[in-house]
Amino acid sequence: MGDELGRLESAGADFVHIDVMDGCFCPQLTVGPPVIAALRTKLRKDVHLMIEDPLDKVGAYVDAGADMLTFHVEATRHPHRVLQALGSAVSRGIALNPGTPVEVVEPLLDDVELVLVLAVNPGWGGQRFAPNTQRRLAAVRDLIDRSGRSVMLGVDGGVTRENVGSIAAMGVDVIVAGSAVFDGGDAAANLKSLRAGVAK
Ligand code: ZN
Repeated sequence: MGDELGRLESAGADFVHIDVMDGCFCPQLTVGPPVIAALRTKLRKDVHLMIEDPLDKVGAYVDAGADMLTFHVEATRHPHRVLQALGSAVSRGIALNPGTPVEVVEPLLDDVELVLVLAVNPGWGGQRFAPNTQRRLAAVRDLIDRSGRSVMLGVDGGVTRENVGSIAAMGVDVIVAGSAVFDGGDAAANLKSLRAGVAK
């Protein structure tokens, strides 16, 4: 893992995005705070929590060294309280599953730095980019513009080297790629190819 991170650093990654799954909010289990704390990298750690009830758990991820911490609005009854608990300790993000109405972000926009729109249902890599994502991204962008705040718009899931150019044209600030980078081949070359696709 350290070798791969070093290669991504030299290939110009902006962040390392770490998917945290708890086996409850989504079916798979991945890593938790000890692994995140142990990752030695110059890259900023962008931690995407796909876990139930994040309110009491986010502190452990801040302590583990998250630079950006994103949780799902579907995973808590109190997304505003989670944002308050995080305060200014990290850059704060909220994530939306494909079936969640985008309007839920509107009351939270004063307290977030990122809105992450999922283009797939969380849990597995390699899924196809959901066609409704383009419309959802446009709707979130509109809400952000109306808030008057500078909030980043991100998209996560279903990104490939073939569709990354059209996704970039949807007006996003952050594109998360998983299996398009880690396909068993040369991750650094894959990342460079993705970045070239965005620049087109
Ligand atoms: Zn993610």
